[in-house]
Amino acid sequence: MDQEKQSAIVSGMRWVSTWARQRKTHTMLIIVGCMLLLTLATLGYDGVRVLRDRGKLVVYSLDVGQGDALFVRFPNATTMLIDSGPDGSVVEQLGSVLPFWERHIDTIVLTHPQADHVGGLPSVFERYSIGRVVMTGVLHTTPEYLELLQQIRDTRTPTTIVDHPFVETVGSVRLEYLWPRTSIAKRSVPELNNTSIILRMVYGDTSFLFTGDAESVVEDALFASRQKLEATVLKIGHHGSDTSTSQAFLDAVHPEFAMISVGRKNKFGHPSRRILRRLARAGVEVHRTDKEGRIRFVSDGTRVTQ
Ligand SMILES: [Zn+2]
Repeated sequence: MDQEKQSAIVSGMRWVSTWARQRKTHTMLIIVGCMLLLTLATLGYDGVRVLRDRGKLVVYSLDVGQGDALFVRFPNATTMLIDSGPDGSVVEQLGSVLPFWERHIDTIVLTHPQADHVGGLPSVFERYSIGRVVMTGVLHTTPEYLELLQQIRDTRTPTTIVDHPFVETVGSVRLEYLWPRTSIAKRSVPELNNTSIILRMVYGDTSFLFTGDAESVVEDALFASRQKLEATVLKIGHHGSDTSTSQAFLDAVHPEFAMISVGRKNKFGHPSRRILRRLARAGVEVHRTDKEGRIRFVSDGTRVTQ
C-alpha cells in the first residue's frame, strides 16, 4: 500500500470515528433533551403556575358538588383549606391546584362539622400531611367528624379552637376570625350552621369574606357589632340559601364578586332566586361552581382578578 492510500485510509478512519463520536453526542443530547421535555411537561405547568402566583393571594372555590371547599395559597406560598366538601372528590380537586410533589397543607379550617363541609377531610388527612386544624370543637357525632377527630389525635396535629374573635397574620395577609364569639367546644348546639367560623382575609386593598353556612341571625350580630365586613369577594353563606345574605349584610360587605359553592341540580334548590336577584340588583359579579366548575380569584394586593 502506497503512502497516499495509507494516509487516505487513516484520515477516512478518523472521519468515521469523529462522526461516530459526534453521533453519540447527538444521540445523548437528543435523549437528554427528550427527558428534559418530559420533565417540563409533567412538572412545568404546576411549577410555572406556583412561581407565577408567588407574591399573590390565590383563592379557589373547588368543584366538590353540594358543599364548600375553599383552597387558599398565600403570597408566601403557604396553604389553607377551608372545609372539604361532602366526600373524597376534594382530593382530586386539590391535585389540580397543587403541584404533585406538594403533599402538605399548612392549615385546615373546618367552619362547622356538617357532612357537606367535613366529609372530605378524612380523605385529605390520608393523602396530605396537615400543619394544624382550626375548628370550634363543637360536639357532633357523625361518623366523618368522629373519624376526623381520631385522625387529628393519631397524627398529633395541633388544633386551634376558635372561641373568641382574634387576628393572626400569614406573611402580609391579615386573617380576622370573627365568629364564633364564645366557646362552643364540646357543647351540643342545635343549629350548627350558626356555629360556622367566619373568616375575613385582608391583603392590601383587597379582602375575602368566608362565612361557612352562617345565617342571617349571625350576619345581624356581626353587623350590629360594627365589625368591618367589607370584602372584595364574598363567599356566599349557606350555598346561596335565602336563610343567609340579608340585604343589610350584603350592603355592609359591599362585594365586587360573589362565589357560590353549590351542587348541580341540588335537591335544596340552592342558590335561591331571591338571593341571586339581590346580588344582581347590587351589581355583584356572581360565580357559581355548579355553572363554572372550579372558581379562581387572584389578588395582587391592589385588585382582584380571575
Ligand atoms: Zn353547607
